[in-house]
Amino acid sequence: MKIIGLIGGMGWQSTAKYYQVINETVAKKLGGLHSAKIVLYSVDFAEIEEMQHQDNWEDATKLMIHAAQSIEKSGANLILICTNTMHMMADDIANSINIPLLHIIDAVANKINSLGFTNVGLLGTRFTMENNFYKGRLINKHKIGVVTPNEADRIKVHNIIYHELCLGKIKVSSKEMLKKIITRLGNKNAQGIILGCTELSLLIKQDDCSIPLLDTTRIHAEAAVDCALEK
Ligand code: GLU
Repeated sequence: MKIIGLIGGMGWQSTAKYYQVINETVAKKLGGLHSAKIVLYSVDFAEIEEMQHQDNWEDATKLMIHAAQSIEKSGANLILICTNTMHMMADDIANSINIPLLHIIDAVANKINSLGFTNVGLLGTRFTMENNFYKGRLINKHKIGVVTPNEADRIKVHNIIYHELCLGKIKVSSKEMLKKIITRLGNKNAQGIILGCTELSLLIKQDDCSIPLLDTTRIHAEAAVDCALEK
């Protein structure tokens, strides 16, 4: 079994879900007392959030590269960045290490293609919904069409992530708001909705809406196990 490296803590609540899903999936596949081999580097999210909102992507990239190199030195065989937003610098991180980086967008795109969807909605932080690193990779590399919410809805989703979910707050009113935003994306012909923030699945579940939800946390974690168990 390969050792899975996780850059986590963005926020820690969703990293806890990664840890749980990875271990549950290994136990399911191998049985008995099997569990995953994991190296976790968990950051202080306050530092990251400050750099993000100050547009200081240079220092954020340096911090992420340091985390990735530390994980590599600790013996990991592959690396996951446990957040969608920080895939903004995924190429720089991948280029700074000698082990493979399992890209969250590629993992979710494989899932979308397996479902036969050609057009999906994207929810996440404003960085994820508005910058081209996410949509561009889905469209250009994977030929998947993407729709995003209007600006007012994007601000609402962004604030739910930073002011509630990353602080561990789960509010029914925010879930109701998210359901309405998801319905509006459905009206824009989205066949499924990418929960493109690793905390969103802590708030909204498949039972809450009829349109298929693509939970990036679970998809990415399960893809890591596939990689780790590959011969
Ligand atoms: N976990 C979130 C994501 O998947 C947001 C936190 C962050 O900015 O990294 O994008």
